[in-house]
Formats: sequence, structure tokens, C-alpha cells
Amino acid sequence: MSCHALVEDYARVTTDDLRRLLGGRKKLKAASAVTLHLDGADVDVELTRNRANLGDGFVTYMTCPLCRRRVSVLRLFPDGRGAVCGVCVRRAGARYSSQMS
Ligand SMILES: [Zn+2]
Repeated sequence: MSCHALVEDYARVTTDDLRRLLGGRKKLKAASAVTLHLDGADVDVELTRNRANLGDGFVTYMTCPLCRRRVSVLRLFPDGRGAVCGVCVRRAGARYSSQMS
């Protein structure tokens, strides 16, 4: 048993996962929010879009439910009660393994 959870141990949800979840790019582009059905709670995640640097597409970002940061990866708490960005996970006490001595 470790007293520090590692960030890498947290399951990830990426915008690619959401695209598959919703059933394609067009549906992801049309959605303003998604609900993640976790073990312990349903979590609503707002989506925002930015024009992509390349081409004429858009990049979809998730909004961290806790700090409102715009991210492309959310981490799921192991108890299934929430999904937050990597910064919030670290604030909650997790460390990247590269930071472990
Ligand atoms: Zn956050």
C-alpha cells in the first residue's frame, strides 16, 4: 500500500474517449457537455472549443469541474466520485512517479 497515489494510477478520460463515447467527431463538436457515469457519481463535464492551429478544424477541450481549467485529459478519482484535471489531482495529494524520490 502506498500513502501517495500516483497521478498515473488515476484512470484518464481524454477528448478522444469522449469522441468515441458520443459516437464521432460531429457529435463531439455538437455537444456542449457530457455526463461521465462513474462508479460513485455522475459527473457533468462542460466542453469548450478552440479553433485549431492547423487546418480549419476545432479542438474540443473539457472544463475541469473543480478549477474550470481547460484540459484535454481528466483524471478519475479511484472511488469513482469525480473527475478533475491533473493540477487538481496533484492538489489532492497525488504525485507523478517522476517526482518521487
Ligand atoms: Zn482542475
